[in-house]
Amino acid sequence: MVRIEIIFVKGRLLRRGRYGIVRAFATRILVRLRLCRRSSGVERAIGNGEADSSILSGGTIYPHYRNSQLTKTLDAAGSARENFSMNTQNTLIGPNDPPPFEVLNPDGAASMLLVCDHASRAIPKSLDTLGLDQKQLDLHIAWDIGAADVTRQLSERLDAAAVLAGYSRLLIDVNRQDGDPGSIPLVSDTIPIPGNQDLNEDEQRQRVESFFRPYHTAAADALAHLWRRGPAPALFSIHTFTPSLGGEDRYWDIGVLWNRDPRMPTPLMEKLRMAEDGTLHVGDNEPYSGREIAYTIDLHAGAAGLPNCAVEIRQDLVETPEGVERWADILAEAFADILADDTLHRVEHF
Ligand SMILES: [Zn+2]
Repeated sequence: MVRIEIIFVKGRLLRRGRYGIVRAFATRILVRLRLCRRSSGVERAIGNGEADSSILSGGTIYPHYRNSQLTKTLDAAGSARENFSMNTQNTLIGPNDPPPFEVLNPDGAASMLLVCDHASRAIPKSLDTLGLDQKQLDLHIAWDIGAADVTRQLSERLDAAAVLAGYSRLLIDVNRQDGDPGSIPLVSDTIPIPGNQDLNEDEQRQRVESFFRPYHTAAADALAHLWRRGPAPALFSIHTFTPSLGGEDRYWDIGVLWNRDPRMPTPLMEKLRMAEDGTLHVGDNEPYSGREIAYTIDLHAGAAGLPNCAVEIRQDLVETPEGVERWADILAEAFADILADDTLHRVEHF
């Protein structure tokens, strides 16, 4: 079993050619050996046809997807990246499209999962840019500019697991209830979305099966993985907002969005208001209210009584690597104390 994996990997890497093959090859062998050691029982079950193909992520197995498989590949720097491929007939994701989600650091030490609903502006080839041009796909309507980068940095700084959605919110907004008429927008910030017009129910369900459900299953799996290890994990969702919408400027630097559970948002707002010598404009349920739009945090944490909240950072503040670093620092510092409070990690209903 192990030997077969090594030969397969060698062939793939050699085809790539110009990157440091020797180093990458050695790294890849270590990754596969680690996976095999931790998961040999399940891998045997898959090989024997006793279980569905599974998602392998950082040595953790999430055996929930029928006919799907996640394996690790190496990028130019020799680091492991996940590569998702689905064989389901009903998926809109083709073999050369990105995976519907990305899991980072699933065994991180922090008792908190980071989620990023609007991390990506990717559209699968099968949907042909939804009829939009590249300039439109670069806008805030397609994704939360800077949110994925802040999430990645925060995952590192806090040693926290993170799940990032792999596709544009224009395909289906994963932070809306399935079936909500606004979840597959016909128009976004005055721009009509040609590829979303006149979709029948089957076409809408394809969006759900291809993008929405894989992402939420990954988030549920990652959170359950942390909770099995204990104590009760927190959920923190990272968004960014456009500085101007509908002719209205929004002056907040960051907004904390929450519904009924004050355990995370109250100390977080306090710490953000003290950060950078008290110069930040911190919104309380602004520019959106977590009492109205909070599908992901309500679904995965609120309903179970796990501590949760979301933030919205103004997009012009995280457009550059320096801006991303700054906000990852601010949030990591705020969370260091919040997560260290043992009373946070309990199930409580509000
Ligand atoms: Zn968002």
